[in-house]
Amino acid sequence: MMQLYQPLNILGFAYREIKQSLIDMEKMFDLLKIEPEVKDAPGAQDLDVDACSVRFDDVHFGYDPRRAVLKGLSFEAEAGKKTAIVGPSGAGKSTIARLIFRFYDVTQGAITIGGTDIRDVTQDSVRRNLGVVPQDTVLFNDTISYNISYPRPEATKDEIERAAQMAQIHEFVSRLPDGYETLVGERGLKLSGGEKQRVAIARTIIKNPPILILDEATSALDSETEAEILTSLNALASGRTSIVIAHRLSTIIDADKIVVVDGGVVAEEGTHEELLGKGGLYARLWKQQSSTRAREEFEQA
Ligand code: ATP
Repeated sequence: MMQLYQPLNILGFAYREIKQSLIDMEKMFDLLKIEPEVKDAPGAQDLDVDACSVRFDDVHFGYDPRRAVLKGLSFEAEAGKKTAIVGPSGAGKSTIARLIFRFYDVTQGAITIGGTDIRDVTQDSVRRNLGVVPQDTVLFNDTISYNISYPRPEATKDEIERAAQMAQIHEFVSRLPDGYETLVGERGLKLSGGEKQRVAIARTIIKNPPILILDEATSALDSETEAEILTSLNALASGRTSIVIAHRLSTIIDADKIVVVDGGVVAEEGTHEELLGKGGLYARLWKQQSSTRAREEFEQA
């Protein structure tokens, strides 16, 4: 049963693919006569909140009941602020993101958005409030315009171009012979990793969700592209509740709050400076990553 959930590594998929895989999964459950794990509560209403803070309250969770991944995790991502989740590999960072999407239910404790327990409202409405910029964006075999506007197909040409400008992909698109009508994907123009990510950012700007989940979207890029993407991401994140799942620390120094997860609980939290000052796990991870970075820069020189 657990294996069926493997394709739901949601951070690798854009929203429509998530929905598609959910639909496919529903079919599969139908065939196998298995009940999906997460269902809307009877009579569940849509999520309707103004301030979209995200809170984990004493959250316990394990994919396998015999092996807990989160063991009483509590933190708050404040509305409109940037919260980064860091921690050693396997600590449960991506799991936190999957739980916010409610691909699984917590076994104890609660996750709330603006004070509402996400189990009390429809899954669809929770997901409508969430935007994801995944590490690896899936493009449809269609035009750039379609790829940017699909969360809101009624978006006007102007809105699409404005989103592309914010995401710093407009100039690139304008220079293509077919502009926004250029076909991309398997059968069209192959975009680079950085270009695809900028399309994903433009797409999320069009969706305009109050909460953003960023799976540290800059991993496989050269440093110039990374800097450009970070600028677009910052424009996107401004004024939204953003939760950054960070696998490297250099990109989240400016976060309003850094939550360090270890052993299934929050080991420490604070700003970059505060955590360095504490000399704990974060300071150690920072030191490790700084020396790796210095070595890589030295080897590249
Ligand atoms: P990394 O920084 O390496 O990406 P992470 O902190 O994001 O790691 P998670 O992907 O959340 O870690 O995984 C936390 C734990 O849960 C790991 O021990 C992992 O093996 C386990 N795990 C993750 N996904 C599943 C799954 N679908 N089924 C069973 N166990 C899983």
